[in-house]
Amino acid sequence: MINIYGITRKKLENYFLENGEKTFKALQVFEWLYQKREKNVDDWSNLKKEIRARLLEDYSFEMPRIVKKECDELTHKYLFELFDHNFIEAVVMFHDYGISVCVSSQIGCNMGCAFCESGRLKKVRNLETFEMVAQIILIEEEIKKRVSSVVIMGIGEPLDNYDHVMDFIDIINDSKGLQLGIRHITLSTSGLVPKIQDLMKRDIQINLAISLHAPNDEIRNKLMKVNKVYSISQLICSIKEYIEYTNRRVTIEYVMLKGINDSDDCAKELAILLKGMNVYVNLIPYNETNHLEFKKSTPKRIAKFCQILKEKGLNVTIRKEFGSKISAACGQLRSKEVER
Ligand code: SAH
Ligand code: SF4
Repeated sequence: MINIYGITRKKLENYFLENGEKTFKALQVFEWLYQKREKNVDDWSNLKKEIRARLLEDYSFEMPRIVKKECDELTHKYLFELFDHNFIEAVVMFHDYGISVCVSSQIGCNMGCAFCESGRLKKVRNLETFEMVAQIILIEEEIKKRVSSVVIMGIGEPLDNYDHVMDFIDIINDSKGLQLGIRHITLSTSGLVPKIQDLMKRDIQINLAISLHAPNDEIRNKLMKVNKVYSISQLICSIKEYIEYTNRRVTIEYVMLKGINDSDDCAKELAILLKGMNVYVNLIPYNETNHLEFKKSTPKRIAKFCQILKEKGLNVTIRKEFGSKISAACGQLRSKEVER
C-alpha cells in the first residue's frame, strides 16, 4: 500500500479529484499530517467520515521506527529500522544558526567510492519518498524541535533515486508540508551528469553540492568509479551550465585524504580547474573508518591547502567536524548494525 507520507500535495489533489472530491481536501490532509501532526485519522474532524475511511483504505499511515541513538554534545545520530528490516541512518547537528538533519536517500550505495563506508556495502534498494520524510518527522518528534535545514548527504546517491528524492524535496518544502525553505535544502551528488542537467531544468533553488574530491582524472578515477563514466571535464562543464541556468552558487566538496589529494600541487591544480566559477569549496576532514585504509590529512595540511585556494581567489571553508566520536562517518552506524 502507498504510504501517505510519500505523497506530494499535487498527487493528493489528483487523488481527491479522481474520487469526486474538492482539491482543497489535500490541503486539509497536509495540515493534519505536517502541522498538527495528528496520527489518529479518526480525529481529523474537518474531513467527512467517508473520506477518512477511504483514506485509511487507500493509504498506509505507518512510520518506520528509531531503534538506536548515539549522542554527543552537538550531534545526534539515529538508526531507523524500515518495514523490511533494513536499516538507515540520519544525523542531527545542532549549530548556532539552527538545527540541520542529514538524511539518507538509499539503503547502501552503488557508486562504490573507495573511501566511503556506504559504498562498501552495496545498494539494497532506493528509499521510498515516505522513508525520507519519516527521517525528519521522527527526529523532530524525538528532539521536540523543528529542523531548520536538510542536507541530502547521508547514505546513498540521491540522483540515483531521482524521482523519490524530487518528491521528498517537494513535500518538505511545501508551505503546508514541512515548510523548509528551498534554500535550506542541500543535495550532494557524486556527479551523475545527465541527472544534474535534469535537476537544472527543474530550476528549483536548492543548494547543489558536488563531491569532486580530486583536481584531475588520474586521482579521481582511483577514488570514485563514477569518474570513469563522467570525467572531470564533463562534470565541470555541467556545473558551469548549472550555475549559468539557475544563477545559483554551487558547493564543491573536497574530502581531505592524507597523501592522496592533499598536496600543494593538488591545491594549485584545483584552483586552476575552478577558476572564475561561482563556486564555494568546502574542505571536508576525512572521518576514518575501521574498514578502509584511508587516513585523514593533518589539520596543518588542511590549513595550508585552504590557504593556497584562498590566495588563488577561491571561496573556501573547512567543514567543522561533527560527531567523529560517535562514528558519524557516512554509513558507519548502519554498517555496524548490518555486520552484527
Ligand atoms: N552520494 C552523495 C551524497 C552522500 S555522501 C555524494 O557522494 O555526494 C556525502 C559526502 O560525504 C560526500 O561528499 C562524500 O564523499 C563524503 N564522505 C563519504 N565518506 C566520508 C568519510 N568517511 N569522511 C568524510 N566524508 C565522507
Ligand atoms: Fe555513494 Fe556518496 Fe559514498 Fe560515493 S561518497 S559511495 S556516492 S554515498
